[in-house]
Amino acid sequence: MIKSILQAIPTYVMSIFLLPNTLIDEIEKMLNSFWWGHSGNNACGLHWLSWERLSVSKNHGGMGFKDLQSFNLAMLGKQAWNLVTKPSNLITKLLKAKYFLRCENINVWNQNWLKDGMAIPTPTDMQILGDVTNVQDLMSSNSKTWDYEKIHSIFDSNTANRILQTPLFASVRADTLVWKMENDGIYSVRSAYKNRFISTGLQHQHGIIGGWNLIRRAKISPKVKNLLWRIGRNILPTRMKLNSRGVQCPVNCAMCSEENEDSNHVLFRCPKSIQSWQQAGLWMHMSAGFNDSKENLLSILERLCKNQQELFSVMMWSIWKCRNNQVWNNISDSAQTVYERANHLITSWRNAQEFRALVDMPQ
Ligand SMILES: [Zn+2]
Repeated sequence: MIKSILQAIPTYVMSIFLLPNTLIDEIEKMLNSFWWGHSGNNACGLHWLSWERLSVSKNHGGMGFKDLQSFNLAMLGKQAWNLVTKPSNLITKLLKAKYFLRCENINVWNQNWLKDGMAIPTPTDMQILGDVTNVQDLMSSNSKTWDYEKIHSIFDSNTANRILQTPLFASVRADTLVWKMENDGIYSVRSAYKNRFISTGLQHQHGIIGGWNLIRRAKISPKVKNLLWRIGRNILPTRMKLNSRGVQCPVNCAMCSEENEDSNHVLFRCPKSIQSWQQAGLWMHMSAGFNDSKENLLSILERLCKNQQELFSVMMWSIWKCRNNQVWNNISDSAQTVYERANHLITSWRNAQEFRALVDMPQ
């Protein structure tokens, strides 16, 4: 919903205008509120992760939502690319007549045309320029090669070498811009966004390296994936976690009352969850050696075969459901019930997938 509709709403405006940061912040806050208000299982209307954290790629523990400032720049880049590469477009002619009448091809100075992606600054001594204006002025007149002597006569040896290392392609008739982040050399908003987003450092700052692919690729219900993602991002709304966010509630485990309720206890160490794992026949794989539920989750997933991974994931969901039944309905599920509920979800999910495959099958 967020990706397909809400993020798409400002797309047209973002392709034309550079939006002020304050407006982008407002839009991102609204999207974030919507996400946490509609993603289910949300307690007390808390926003568990900021938009920056959600915009990190799924491989880094985010949701892959758009960082709107980077997206805005990538969209505007498309307009700039069209201006440079499509001179016959009406809008290009119009803007060219008004703003850059004498600009043809690629200018030698201050354009990032070298192989290393850098530009050559305009020299202070204009005498040395001679008749050199465009990149094509540095090529031999008869062949598609660099004019070695001319280049060395104008530039210092370092700059001359950087020019000579920039490849020329016989198949390209005129000097032209190439977008090096795509194989076909043509600008794409997708690659520009990715490059810009990485350069912001948000991925590094807010991402978490880990085996997220194990969760993403598992053939399990989205609601189970969502729960595993929350465990991995340490935002399962346990009583300890709610307390740390300023919510007044008891901190002891709702199922056993013996220990503080954090996600590691609820899922791996509570007597009720241990009984459930035993019931499911997975207890022998459950050496929950870490104090951190994310590390336990990922290390156990890695050790299991595919079918066990599926059962393990759905059991986590069912144990959390058991905890919620205790908290909200004062119902104490037996270990047998926890296991049967997990099995029921696995079966109904598989049936739904098989039915979908049948419906999608070409007649
Ligand atoms: Zn407990």
